[in-house]
Amino acid sequence: MDCLFCKIANGEIESEFIFEDERAVAFNDINPQAPTHILIIPREHISGPDAIDGSNSDLAGHLLVVAAKLARDLGIDESGYRIVFNNGLDGGQTVDHIHLHLIGGRRLGWPPG
Ligand code: AMP
Ligand code: ZN
Repeated sequence: MDCLFCKIANGEIESEFIFEDERAVAFNDINPQAPTHILIIPREHISGPDAIDGSNSDLAGHLLVVAAKLARDLGIDESGYRIVFNNGLDGGQTVDHIHLHLIGGRRLGWPPG
């Protein structure tokens, strides 16, 4: 499958992982929106939030666990941060391999634009 994030996860496209384990990898967003902007993705291809079901919800939950751990490791847990899954066109999803954004290091606006 021609998927950018599959290629990053399997090393076909070289990138520096901030975190990796058997199920997930994390790397810096190429177009950061804040001092910390990390993408956490499963190694397995899941097209997006809409494809989460009972068969892969553990894996989706694992992405949240990794995000919280990275936030603690990076020292933004007390100042706060945002974790976001975008879904589909209106949600702003541009890569069809599920990814959790971990964004922090500055005060973020709400609601989103
Ligand atoms: P989304 O708009 O939620 O689908 O997020 C996709 C994110 O992937 C965007 O924030 C992009 O900046 C980021 N991105 C696209 N290509 C790369 C890449 N090669 N390496 C790292 N981040 C990327
Ligand atoms: Zn993929």
